[in-house]
Amino acid sequence: MYYSKKSAEPTPEEQTSIWSCLSDGCECWMRDNFSFDSNPNCPICGSEMLADSRMLPVLKK
Ligand SMILES: [Zn+2]
Repeated sequence: MYYSKKSAEPTPEEQTSIWSCLSDGCECWMRDNFSFDSNPNCPICGSEMLADSRMLPVLKK
């Protein structure tokens, strides 16, 4: 394997746990580690949120 060290490296992504709004037409979601509740409600419409996951850029600490 060869990796070139260029400045335009793609941002690394990883499968990240998120909460996704269950309301039709509401696109709201948030990272699981940004929510303080084990079963949060959507901050936009107040609907229940479903545990989901998606590929997101890795957060730098
Ligand atoms: Zn919502």
